Amino acid sequence: MKTPGLERIVVPTFAGPMNCYLLLSADGMETYVVDPGGDRVRLLATVRARGVRVRGVLLTHGHIDHIGALDAFAAPRDAASGVVAPVPVFLHPTERALLLDPEMNGAAIFDDPLPFDPAALDLRPLEPGRALPLGASDAESVEWMHTPGHTAGSVCYRLGDDLVTGDTLFAGSVGRSDFPTGDARALARSVVHLIDTLPGHVRIHPGHGSPSTIDDEKRRNPFYRAWKQGGEDAVDL
Ligand SMILES: [Zn+2]
Repeated sequence: MKTPGLERIVVPTFAGPMNCYLLLSADGMETYVVDPGGDRVRLLATVRARGVRVRGVLLTHGHIDHIGALDAFAAPRDAASGVVAPVPVFLHPTERALLLDPEMNGAAIFDDPLPFDPAALDLRPLEPGRALPLGASDAESVEWMHTPGHTAGSVCYRLGDDLVTGDTLFAGSVGRSDFPTGDARALARSVVHLIDTLPGHVRIHPGHGSPSTIDDEKRRNPFYRAWKQGGEDAVDL
């Protein structure tokens, strides 16, 4: 699905393919990069080919498969590798500890160090009620919603009718809640809240797999349906 304002870039990771997204201003001149999960060469080439200015990196959460190419945008290790200038990295304040801890974010499982230099990151906590400005004169904005459950600091980002859901809500499924800071009941509340409050035509763009819409998930998502009928404990995640 190609939608104005959003471009999906599928990159391979140890956890299978994952979706990075560009959230583009209406004039196509500026973008936020959401979840640069890997394949820094391809991500940088895409940004370069579009000729867009990267305004910042937005993280839906801090898991290792969502941050593998973080340093390409946020903390170039040397001048030669830095195609774009370092930009701020926005994340929920609760997620900071997980992002910086290889045991919590999953890097240690693969005996890898963090794929970035923490001291070089310009981390900015998302502020309640404050959207992220985008485009000329900051005329557009990206809203964020706190959707805990997959991790405590998981968030979704909305630009117009496009919602990037990270690992909270997938097409026909939901994220796991058995990783550090995960919470099955919180996930249930977050998913039900998203689907019940957003307009049905809003397109959802998950961290893995195909896009969907709020309407489709309301009709077909078995987790949502079970939680609506049986409450937060209706599914044993
Ligand atoms: Zn995850």
